[in-house]
Amino acid sequence: MDHKKLIIFTAPSGAGKTTIVRHLLKVRKDISFSISACTRTPRYGEVSGMDYYFLSSDEFKRKVENGDFVEYEEVYDNQFYGTLRSEIERLWGLGKHVLFDIDVKGALSIKQKYGEDALSIFVKPPSFEVLKERLMNRKTEDEASLRKRINRVKEEMTYERHFDMTLINSDLKQALAEAEEIVANFLTLETSSS
Ligand code: 5GP
Repeated sequence: MDHKKLIIFTAPSGAGKTTIVRHLLKVRKDISFSISACTRTPRYGEVSGMDYYFLSSDEFKRKVENGDFVEYEEVYDNQFYGTLRSEIERLWGLGKHVLFDIDVKGALSIKQKYGEDALSIFVKPPSFEVLKERLMNRKTEDEASLRKRINRVKEEMTYERHFDMTLINSDLKQALAEAEEIVANFLTLETSSS
């Protein structure tokens, strides 16, 4: 099997990383999405084993104790999300590179674990003000929850310097083209363990 790699996207909430991730999955057939495990309840239309592996808190805890996770985080109060080692192996077994859409701390853990086999990309909104506006325009949050998200975003923005690349998402078309280029360059690079 060819040497397989990991591409990790992370961003403060509202920066637009999911759109970028979906685009890459569409244009690159050699990449597959890492389905995370999580304890939150499925949203309308979400399917276990496609969007997430939806687990009960007990099931999640058991997997933590078994050492089944490469990383996991309590992303929101009492809601856990994590990457299963078996998921990475499943995708590598299919001959794919693995693409992640995970929170900032999870992204740093994966990067630390896989070193130069992993590329970590921080997607950034053009400014904090734009991002705040995007979050407010969603109108899905009450004021307390919005404040919580905005505070989380402020904290997440301070992590940018720890990532391999920053992708600024001001013009979407340009950001998509840039993402394609970054990934293409990374996947053609030889690493010492290749
Ligand atoms: P949502 O509940 O909106 O699907 O996701 C909430 C947050 O959890 C997002 O920031 C998403 O990137 C993050 N997330 C999803 N899967 C994982 C994972 O496996 N590990 C970590 N650390 N974060 C994750």
